[in-house]
Amino acid sequence: MTARHVVVVGGGFAGLAAAVRLARAGARTTLLERRPFLGGRAYSFADPVTGEVVDNGPHALMGAYTEALDFLREIGASAKLRVQPRLRVALAHPELGLGEVAAPAVPGPLQAPLALLRYRLLGRGDRVRLFAGALRLAARGRGLAGRTVAEALADVGQSPAACARFWHPLAIATLNETPETAAAAPFAAVLRRAFFAGARAARFALATVPLSELYTTDARRAIEAGGGTVVTGAAVASLALEAERTPGRSCCATDAASAPTPSSWPCRAPRSSACCRPRCAPRRRSARSPPSAPRRS
Ligand SMILES: Cc1cc2nc3c(=O)[nH]c(=O)nc-3n(C[C@H](O)[C@H](O)[C@H](O)COP(=O)(O)OP(=O)(O)OC[C@H]3O[C@@H](n4cnc5c(N)ncnc54)[C@H](O)[C@@H]3O)c2cc1C
Repeated sequence: MTARHVVVVGGGFAGLAAAVRLARAGARTTLLERRPFLGGRAYSFADPVTGEVVDNGPHALMGAYTEALDFLREIGASAKLRVQPRLRVALAHPELGLGEVAAPAVPGPLQAPLALLRYRLLGRGDRVRLFAGALRLAARGRGLAGRTVAEALADVGQSPAACARFWHPLAIATLNETPETAAAAPFAAVLRRAFFAGARAARFALATVPLSELYTTDARRAIEAGGGTVVTGAAVASLALEAERTPGRSCCATDAASAPTPSSWPCRAPRSSACCRPRCAPRRRSARSPPSAPRRS
């Protein structure tokens, strides 16, 4: 039987993970990425002035990122991470200096809560309120619908100092969004999964290589080893889904001179089919594009 041909659109974490699993499962897999490099919102690039490689995206992973860590294991990239023995994060304050959220050597479930209670950049009262607030937020589910992180923190009585020295850095680091706009429900999920799910979930795994190298290199290798193809600089201009009985039948176009032309694409639908409208999408630079091409995977 001929293997099913699947085209994955987008070479970020999600697209790469899907393509790796499809290729390994025996599907004829083609991954198309609009930009000239893989990684999506998580990539590294060389600074044009200093030449230094800069990471953009989640360069520090928590143990609670189980799917991301599974994915790295799956593509053989786990050894590129250095995992902390216990949670330890330093925060800097202009006047108070450095303070650590650091877990003591106590049994697992107690580690992260005690790390909050020992946080030096807050007074004793604020630390207790910090811990109680974290517990209350983590326990709240539907009650947070429609609330922002800033509103939810006010609901559980967090002081401006606690917000400035702990909550806001945490919200921005984990949600990539200011507390005034970030939704409270996913933030509560972060607290539940990171601070109240045991010691392994709370500790950090830091990449020992640039972010692109951490996972796009090995992911591409895994796709190609499974017989798949990865094409960068290939923007999909349209998807034309046919009747429900043929799910996934789609067509694609590419704007990359180096990539195969639309007519050479092994789309499942015939080119003459009404579903197939190959046309070139203008290549656009994303707002988050790096100033120069990143390290290629
Ligand atoms: C600074 C920063 C910090 C972050 N920190 C964390 C964190 O601590 N924890 C966490 O969980 N997450 C974090 N994130 C978010 C995380 O990086 C993203 O959720 C994740 O990378 C998204 O992956 P994705 O594959 O879903 O989407 P994307 O990364 O957006 O990938 C989509 C890809 O599809 C491509 N594409 C789009 N349209 C087309 C088309 N028509 N044709 C071809 N290709 C197309 C895009 O170019 C892109 O490469 C952070 C993000 C940033 C920027």
